[in-house]
Amino acid sequence: MGIFERDTNIYADRDALREDYQPQELVGRTEELNTYQASLQPVINGEQPDNIFLYGKTGVGKTAATRFLLDHLSEDAQQYEDLDLSVVMLNCDGLTSSYQVATRLVNEFRDETNQISTTGYPRATVYEMLWTELEETGGTVIIVLDEVDHLKDDSILYQLPRARANGNLEDTKTGIIGISNDFSFREELSPKVRSSLCEQEIHFPAYDANDLRDILGQRASVAFQEDVLEDDVIPLCAAYGAKDAGDARQSLDLLMSAGDIARKRESTIITTEHVEAGRNELERGRIQEGISGLTEHGHLVLYAILTLDLEGETPVRSRDVRPRYTRFSELANRDPLVPRRMRDHLSELAMLGIISVTERNEGRRGGTYREYGLDLSPELVLSALDETVELVGIHDSIMDRVDVDEGQPIRSTLDDY
Ligand code: ADP
Ligand code: MG
Repeated sequence: MGIFERDTNIYADRDALREDYQPQELVGRTEELNTYQASLQPVINGEQPDNIFLYGKTGVGKTAATRFLLDHLSEDAQQYEDLDLSVVMLNCDGLTSSYQVATRLVNEFRDETNQISTTGYPRATVYEMLWTELEETGGTVIIVLDEVDHLKDDSILYQLPRARANGNLEDTKTGIIGISNDFSFREELSPKVRSSLCEQEIHFPAYDANDLRDILGQRASVAFQEDVLEDDVIPLCAAYGAKDAGDARQSLDLLMSAGDIARKRESTIITTEHVEAGRNELERGRIQEGISGLTEHGHLVLYAILTLDLEGETPVRSRDVRPRYTRFSELANRDPLVPRRMRDHLSELAMLGIISVTERNEGRRGGTYREYGLDLSPELVLSALDETVELVGIHDSIMDRVDVDEGQPIRSTLDDY
C-alpha cells in the first residue's frame, strides 16, 4: 500500500506562490509600467533602442515587470515584418566579472555544440566573439542584465551600450536593460558608463500594505482553493510585508508558509495563527542561515555565550566570556583570537540579532561597558551549532539537550571554565 496520497484541501496551485511564477497581469505599478513601456517604444518603431536602467529594492517587481513587457514586446513585434527582434535575459547573480558576462552572452547566441568555456580567452577575444554573434543575429537585440549589481567591474556596461558608437557593430541595433537591487550601484558607476547605460532611468519604489494586499489577493485566487483563507490572513501578510521591506516576494513566502502549516496541521482553513507560525518558521530559517554563515570563531564565541546563558551567567561581560571562549578554541584546536577580535565577533552576533547587548555605566568612575546575553531560544542556536559542538565537545550545560552521537562530552575536570 502506498504511503503518499494527493491532498487538495488547501492548495489549488501551490506553484503560483513561487518566485518563478509569472503572473498574467501585474497589479498596481501602472505608472512605472507606462514609463517602462514608453522607454521601449523605439524598439517597436524599428529605431535604435534606448538603454534602460531599472532600480529598486528586492521583491518590488523589477524582474516580473521586465518579463511581462518583453513578452508583450516580442509578441507585438511579430506583426511588423521589417522588425527582427531578439531578447536575451541574463541574471548576473553568481557572475562577478564583465568577462564572465561576455562569455555567457556569447553562449546564449550559440548552439549547444558550439559553446565556449568561461575561462581561458583573452577578454578582447571574447568581446570580438560577442560582436560577431550580435552581427550575425542582426535586427534589434535587447539584452537584459538582471541583478547587474553583482558585477565587480563595469567594462561590459561600457562596451555593450557603446558598441555601435565604437564601430564594433554596424547593422545590429542593441538595447541594454540593466536591473539593480542596489541604488548605490548607480552612484558608483563611472560617469561615462552612467551616461551610456542610464539613458532612461526607472525607479520601482517599495510596496505599501495596500499594494501588497492586491498582489497577494491576485496570487491567492490562483493558489488556494475557494474559501480556505480567513478574511484577515492577506491583510496580515501584507502588513508584515510592508513593515519589513515592502517586498512582494517576502510576503508571498509568508503566505505560502502559512498555507504549508495549515496543510501540515490538516486544517481546512488558513488562519492568522498559521501566519504567525509561518512568520516564526521563516524567522528561524533566516537565523539559522545567519548562524551558519558565521566564521568558525563566531561559532566558538556563540557556543560560549550559549553555555553561559544556560548556566544562568548572562548577561555577561566580554572579559567573562573570554575564558570559556579560549577553552573552547583550544578544544577545537584553534588559536584563540585576541580580546579585541573576540569582541568584534560579539558585536557581529549582536548586530545579527543573535545575541543581545546592553550598555552599562561603570558607576562613579564614569566609563561604560557592555553585557551580552542570548537573544534566541537555546534550542534554535544549538541546532545551528552542531558542527561546533562536535568539534569542541559537549559542554555540561547542554548534555541533556543533545544526542550522544553529536560529539564527545568535554571532560568534567575542564568544565569549571
Ligand atoms: P525584483 O525583481 O524586484 O526583486 P520580482 O519581480 O522577482 O522582484 O517580484 C517578486 C515576486 O513578487 C514575484 O513572484 C513577482 O511575480 C511578484 N510581484 C512583484 N510585483 C508584482 C505585481 N505588481 N503584481 C503581481 N506580482 C508581483
Ligand atoms: Mg529580480
